[in-house]
Amino acid sequence: MKVKFLDLKAQYETISAEIEQAIREVLDSSAFSGGPFVESFEASFARYCGCRHAVGLGSGTDALWLSLLAMGIGSGDEVITVPNTFFATAEAISLTGARPVLVDVDERTYTMDPALLESRITGQTRAIIPVHLFGQMADMDPLMDIARRHGLKVIEDACQAHGAEYHGRRAGSIGDVGVFSFYPGKNLGAYGEAGAVVTDDEEIYQKLRLLRDHGQRRKHDHQLVGCNARMDGLQGAVLSVKLRHLDRWNSARRQRASWYKELLGGAQGLILPQESSGRQHIYHIYCVRLDDRERVLAELEKQDIGCAVHYPVPIHLQKAYAGLGYRAGSFPVSEQCAGQSLSLPMYAELDSSQVQQVAERLKGCLTRRLVMTAT
Ligand SMILES: *Cc1c(COP(=O)(O)O)cnc(C)c1O
Repeated sequence: MKVKFLDLKAQYETISAEIEQAIREVLDSSAFSGGPFVESFEASFARYCGCRHAVGLGSGTDALWLSLLAMGIGSGDEVITVPNTFFATAEAISLTGARPVLVDVDERTYTMDPALLESRITGQTRAIIPVHLFGQMADMDPLMDIARRHGLKVIEDACQAHGAEYHGRRAGSIGDVGVFSFYPGKNLGAYGEAGAVVTDDEEIYQKLRLLRDHGQRRKHDHQLVGCNARMDGLQGAVLSVKLRHLDRWNSARRQRASWYKELLGGAQGLILPQESSGRQHIYHIYCVRLDDRERVLAELEKQDIGCAVHYPVPIHLQKAYAGLGYRAGSFPVSEQCAGQSLSLPMYAELDSSQVQQVAERLKGCLTRRLVMTAT
């Protein structure tokens, strides 16, 4: 039996009637760009995150980039983030003309290490972007503390953390803004591209609304130079339906993570994800670490177990960022993760026999390695 890394069709089959009804309503009303379906999603998503406002946008990358612009960040400024993230986190900083400055992650949670942050702050630093990687929030209390002491803005990259919690507070509600992607494979995924920013800050909220729509206050009244980053009506309608299921899907993911832990705990040479106390991990990605990752990945693929790697090359070793002046060895934890990380199948529709199969095949690979190294 094949186990897919991700199965969007299996999820769709559980909600198809609701989705088709929602799409029909958009088609019937021709509200394709922005409009009532987007506004209704914004209201429910803001409430879900525990924030006053949400702004629906075209993608998570737009949400990061426009948040920085709304804070007035640009050329000559520095913004601090981590090397162990999806490329877009750093890319959005560069798109504003500012310079990404990197700080390594904590070895247990794979999120920004607060102990390393302060030494990276200079007179040019304007903001920090902690990334809630794989669905677990960064250590926000110390990070917020440092940011406030230095007068820095905080952008939570919550693109992988819809519904994750830190001491009872939802992802996106702690920093000045929280940024979300609704790329189809995310825990809350659209049927196309979409993103959002959540915030309590009235000024940033108003600025984001202008920026996403060519700086228009009303039609033909352009207050500033923006862009077109509006959310589609169809995506707004789909996301409103899917938001109603998000908590259930997240707890199903947590259940599957606990199955993996039961089956794989104690396996020699395998590091499982660790949930820090006070944090609610929503397992966007179930990432384990092991030596000899390439061989294990190839063996599992051969046995029809879909796997992936998040992320094989950290930001500072990407060709596009050769100019930042970092080198191999600059960020040892991120580099070790890049070499060892392996993402296993993780979604609400995985059944227990599939999880069992993944675990058994993975353990088989580990045993074969032990035998090989012993002989
Ligand atoms: C997905 C993702 C993004 C980008 O979102 P898009 O909607 O694909 O533009 C940014 N940061 C992180 C951490 C992500 O996982």
